[in-house]
Amino acid sequence: YKEPETQSVQAAVELRGVSCYFGPVKAVDGVDLEILPGEFFSMLGPSGSGKTTCLRLIGGFEQPTAGQIVLFGQDASKLPPYARDVNTVFQDYALFPHMNVRDNVAYALMVRGVPKPERHRRAEEMLELVKLSGLGDRRPGQLSGGQRQRVALARALINRPRLLLLDEPLGALDLKLREEMQIELKALQRQLGITFIYVTHDQGEALSMSDRVAVFNHGKIEQLDNPKTLYEYPKTEFVARFVGSANVLEGRLLGLGTGKYALRPERIAIQAGSHNGPNSLCGTLLDIHYLGAQTRYEVQVGNERLTVLTSSEEQGLQVGGAVTLRWEHSALRPLQEVS
Ligand code: ATP
Repeated sequence: YKEPETQSVQAAVELRGVSCYFGPVKAVDGVDLEILPGEFFSMLGPSGSGKTTCLRLIGGFEQPTAGQIVLFGQDASKLPPYARDVNTVFQDYALFPHMNVRDNVAYALMVRGVPKPERHRRAEEMLELVKLSGLGDRRPGQLSGGQRQRVALARALINRPRLLLLDEPLGALDLKLREEMQIELKALQRQLGITFIYVTHDQGEALSMSDRVAVFNHGKIEQLDNPKTLYEYPKTEFVARFVGSANVLEGRLLGLGTGKYALRPERIAIQAGSHNGPNSLCGTLLDIHYLGAQTRYEVQVGNERLTVLTSSEEQGLQVGGAVTLRWEHSALRPLQEVS
């Protein structure tokens, strides 16, 4: 991924001071945003943070209460969904159950009056792209969840939109299939060069696929960065905790005066016993969770509960026993206070 030159590239999507209120609920609250052509852009946040509403505003399924939505340089704020060069993949796929897979995929072409032979040819092309060749005659009900997901994707891509919106498209799949589809989606996006906007509450999914990620909290974007920066340099306590479950420590506890710091669980080493020293804290081991590739420890330090992740299980640790946590000073990331 190459940092774009923002001056010379026209944005695919621009939100300017966009808000969307439902009665007293500020679902989206004054969002400014630029998404570049060809970007894989994710909107990440907990349930109710406004990411789906933001996606629906871009798709034209909701009207902004205030602000402007610009798509490829054109004010689209008042355009209906069908007049935008945008398709959407919904979490439940919304396939037509009575149509076979080929007709589902070719639906957008049928509506536009494309003759049947060409419709079928292009549908088969799309099915090949999503690795479903040969399944065109089946009904959606005769497919697995992962296959239905691919049909929904093929259907949304057949008329080559400039922008594809994806609302938790992998949410219904089991973990292994989800991880496979993450890799395929990213590869497909690269191959087609279409701008993807992807809504998810799964931070791992957002980090692994995206060029940039916007973290939503209470209808606002709290941080917008590439995955590495987001993970390594969270700006706020919310982002630190939501992306990668960082520990958040008070400066006082660390002897660093006021302020807050994020400390990633995997940047902490743990050993048995109480050993005072710089960049360390002593506490009591509350719990050990064996996770396979990693082991997670919960440790009580004063009033705080800290998490430690190690790649191999430490020996000689006992639940209820004293432990010492250590880290490199550079692992502490200062956080901003948010009003
Ligand atoms: P989730 O992951 O659960 O879908 P989200 O981050 O996508 O959450 P939104 O669906 O955008 O969040 O919802 C943001 C807020 O707006 C929530 O408080 C929600 O209840 C509210 N909201 C969304 N749509 C409507 C609606 N049509 N009418 C009233 N309130 C709504």
